[in-house]
Amino acid sequence: TTVNINELLEQILKRLQPIADKQKVELVLESFRPVSAEVDEVKITLAFTNLIENAIKYNKNDGEGWVHVSLNADHQYFYLKVEDSGIGIPEESLEHIYERFYRVDKSHSREIGGTGLGLAITRNSILMHRGAIKVYSVLNEGTTFDVRIPLNYIA
Ligand code: ATP
Ligand code: MG
Repeated sequence: TTVNINELLEQILKRLQPIADKQKVELVLESFRPVSAEVDEVKITLAFTNLIENAIKYNKNDGEGWVHVSLNADHQYFYLKVEDSGIGIPEESLEHIYERFYRVDKSHSREIGGTGLGLAITRNSILMHRGAIKVYSVLNEGTTFDVRIPLNYIA
């Protein structure tokens, strides 16, 4: 089905706003253009929700934290960027974060709560759409996830 990605992101952010408020993280959405795409709405919602929820959860809670979500597109793909000012991911963990049940720093992660399945599901869902996901991170500064998904993927 054809999904309005701008609206889908607005809904996701609205649902995550209470979690952001609790963590004192500022949540910002920037849509550079209208995007509609042929996607599996449930799978894409799960994927994007986990990326944005992670960006909120693994963030500062001193009122200085922020998450910036942006949406853009060209004639072939749409692009989602989720950038945070959070705790970052150590270099040696970057290759493991998509593994099921993998969580960085068990003690720290235990306080935050989660199963370690989110990114495995996110990556599968993006690959299923013939998309791509990339991560950039600096410890104690923040993390950026870049996602690219074809506009008219046919299942
Ligand atoms: P779940 O999503 O299943 O509730 P989770 O958030 O721990 O649990 P993933 O979403 O798969 O699991 O993330 C795996 C691990 O990667 C997290 O436990 C965390 O250590 C690290 N991580 C993911 N996103 C970020 C981020 N934006 N900033 C810092 N660390 C992150
Ligand atoms: Mg998660």
